[in-house]
Amino acid sequence: PERSDVHYFGAGPAPLPTPVLQEASKVLLNYDSTGLGLTEISHRSPEANAILARTQTALRHLLDIPTSDGPEGYQILFLQGGGSGEFSAVVYHMISIWVAKLAKQRQQGLEQEVKRLRLDYLVTGSWSLKASQEAARLVGKEYVNVVTDARHGGKFGVIPAEGEWSRTKAEEDVALTYYCDNETVDGVEFPTAPSGKNLVADMSSNFLSRAVDIKRHIAIFGGAQKNIGTTGITIAIVSNSILPPHAEMADPVLLRKLGLPIGPVVLDWPTIAKNNSLYNTLPIFDVWIAGQVIQRLLEQAPDAKSPRISVQEAESNEKAGLLYAVLDEFPGMYQVVPDKSVRSRMNLCFRIKHGDAEAEKAFLKGAEGRGLLGLKGHRSVGGIRASNYNAVSVQAAEKLAEYLRDFAEGKV
Ligand code: PLP
Repeated sequence: PERSDVHYFGAGPAPLPTPVLQEASKVLLNYDSTGLGLTEISHRSPEANAILARTQTALRHLLDIPTSDGPEGYQILFLQGGGSGEFSAVVYHMISIWVAKLAKQRQQGLEQEVKRLRLDYLVTGSWSLKASQEAARLVGKEYVNVVTDARHGGKFGVIPAEGEWSRTKAEEDVALTYYCDNETVDGVEFPTAPSGKNLVADMSSNFLSRAVDIKRHIAIFGGAQKNIGTTGITIAIVSNSILPPHAEMADPVLLRKLGLPIGPVVLDWPTIAKNNSLYNTLPIFDVWIAGQVIQRLLEQAPDAKSPRISVQEAESNEKAGLLYAVLDEFPGMYQVVPDKSVRSRMNLCFRIKHGDAEAEKAFLKGAEGRGLLGLKGHRSVGGIRASNYNAVSVQAAEKLAEYLRDFAEGKV
């Protein structure tokens, strides 16, 4: 089939806007009449520097990321290692800051005092569970406080009310509060950001789909391969308040002495920030792709009042609304997995006839026949998952909605 014959609803890597890919094929061959392709030029060349700067500025503009050299400003970092790499990076970084503060307050008995360290995790789906497990692997599970484990009978699908959470009692012991804004596997999305000291968000699967209250977070990260671009870069938006010179990092010798982990330099936010993401070879082609996608979103909203992402937000809501409406119309046929209050606008997870294997197989086969691909649920949970990322057009969502209706009415 041709590209235009299929609509892909996979959970990531995800589709990119066709015009971006068309332009990408040109720059791979000859970038800006340099005679060289974009994957062939130095990441330290003037061309690469310009791409990096343009992409950072565009993202800053789109999400209203505060600009300042002071502690209220934020850095935009490009890293490698995916969202999973950041599961570790955030732990290394926030432990180092917590220990540096502790060491400043007390000179004696640090070995004893360090036992108070706590990393607060909100476990609302498979990815925050993984992040919490990585924290436990790195520092030891006695330091990880699961604020909430939203599983019921082994399954995710709700976000318990804040009143039911078990936070670490003494706030000064909390090095970070971690949550995943949108759980890709389970279809659970936070309606709004939770509260918590040193709040860190994984936005891998709903980045650039709605306005974000950046200032509530000390760090936000996500792999680019869903809403932003190609697999290969991870974006981290990091508050200056947790970076030198505004924050002190612990001496690695001290961390080692205390039995705490020290991360690899390529995941070290201060190093990456100090080198403007060019500490080591940055895949500049991936940054270029992200820049094109972000620029297109900005162009969609030239006259919109801030936040400029609101045009995309409205479209994401419209597409998700359209699909959930059909799913809800046929409750005998379709059962949405998560609770209505936390349904993801990005990954719509549902069962057919309460998980009837034959019916789900028939659904997927029929969808394929209409060029609607990538609808199989994650292997760990089964069922159907329709990922509604930014590059999924309204027309594609309408086609899927039509198919959902036809299948429910036996017209397939
Ligand atoms: N976090 C979320 C919410 C994800 O959906 C994923 C991947 O799908 C990850 C983290 C892990 O990302 P990566 O595969 O880039 O390490």
